[in-house]
Amino acid sequence: MSDKHTIMTLSEQNSLLHFDKENVWHPYTSMSEPLPSYLVESAQGVYINLASGEQLIDGMSSWWSVLHGYNHPKLNTALQQQAGKMSHVMFGGLTHESAINLCEKLIRLTPEGLDKVFLSDSGSVSVEVAMKMALQYQHAKAEINQQTLTKTKLLTVKNGYHGDTFAAMSVCDPVTGMHQIFEQVLMQHYFAPAPSIKFGEEWSNDDVSELSALFAAHHEEIAAFIIEPIVQGTGGMRFYHPEYLKVCRQLCDKHDVLLIVDEIATGFGRTGKLFACEWAGINPDIMCLGKTLTGGYITLAATLCTTHIAQTISEGAAGCFMHGPTFMGNALACAVANASIDLLIENDWQAQVQAIETILTTQLSPLAAHHRVEDVRILGSIGAIECRQSVNVANIQKRFVELGVWIRPFGKLIYIIPPLIINEKQLMSLANAITVVLEEDSCFINN
Ligand SMILES: *Cc1c(COP(=O)(O)O)cnc(C)c1O
Repeated sequence: MSDKHTIMTLSEQNSLLHFDKENVWHPYTSMSEPLPSYLVESAQGVYINLASGEQLIDGMSSWWSVLHGYNHPKLNTALQQQAGKMSHVMFGGLTHESAINLCEKLIRLTPEGLDKVFLSDSGSVSVEVAMKMALQYQHAKAEINQQTLTKTKLLTVKNGYHGDTFAAMSVCDPVTGMHQIFEQVLMQHYFAPAPSIKFGEEWSNDDVSELSALFAAHHEEIAAFIIEPIVQGTGGMRFYHPEYLKVCRQLCDKHDVLLIVDEIATGFGRTGKLFACEWAGINPDIMCLGKTLTGGYITLAATLCTTHIAQTISEGAAGCFMHGPTFMGNALACAVANASIDLLIENDWQAQVQAIETILTTQLSPLAAHHRVEDVRILGSIGAIECRQSVNVANIQKRFVELGVWIRPFGKLIYIIPPLIINEKQLMSLANAITVVLEEDSCFINN
């Protein structure tokens, strides 16, 4: 990709960017003092091409969503072929091959027992669906057994992230999840301390003592336990010991609590296993998938559950699960998801992830000795550098663009999660850019 051509004039670019700055919300960005946005003209493979002519190596996979690179011929073809048949039909009373094939794949690839699939629009919605499923299951169960319903709360761990909609937000970390702003309207749930024993460290049962105590004290009120398996992503890029997740499964079984795993970030190979809960060898009752489900093309999510949950809900007085998004089972999204999953298998994802992990380990691990670095964590295709200071987002972003890479840090975390097709040279460029910015005071906030 050497033909850096720009089709827009500078004044066209400026006028677009001006409107954007004045009128368009960006995620977690002030409208009165916005951080700069960079205008993208196209993207190809691991490159993001800015309208201003720079070509950036993508270290973010567009927030964990891009798997096989941008503008992939096979994914484009899947999309075009589906669009030639139909882009969407309502899912009430109608069904289609792309959705059916996708659900068959998801059932086959995910851990045993997850046999029923609910398709929805985004990760947050799939978490809403999972929580609602758990609550409706407990409701139906109490009804069938003619018992009073007491299981109406969730239990989770601190430092979690499950999305931005209200129910999802109510199980996000109470501090970083901004609970104080919405205190009066958020549902109140139980929080255990975050897992503290890291992936690769020696296990000790001390790590689950408070969790076990919370289960023991409140199990009669708890419908479900929700957790991100192995990797707490947005809540701090923390990788925890698989034994923790095993104990979660045991505690859920012991106390008749459903286990929801949120694999939205970790699913499809990112951690070195196809699904992160495989590190612990556990089978969840409910699983949420999203982000890279369509290889980064279109928003799509899925909530899988066991036959037992689906049957119990269906035998309750309501007679069915009470949810149904307009764009449920969108055909374009399902078609591209099928193609992306096929590519993942064809491309030998394990070898791809292993190669990335090896290079991240040699390139990033030495940075642990840097005076500005608190910790370096690597798992599968994820590399995170926790700094001692918060980053100055505008300055560090500008420097990364100057260095030809797209890396977007948050808080004290500089992390990369590149598309699986990235090669060694491109990965070295990402690592090199991080090494460079660590030397620059202007990229950090003194605190
Ligand atoms: C991104 C994310 C979500 C939310 O997904 P959206 O598609 O942004 O709504 C939920 N859970 C986890 C673990 C995530 O990483």
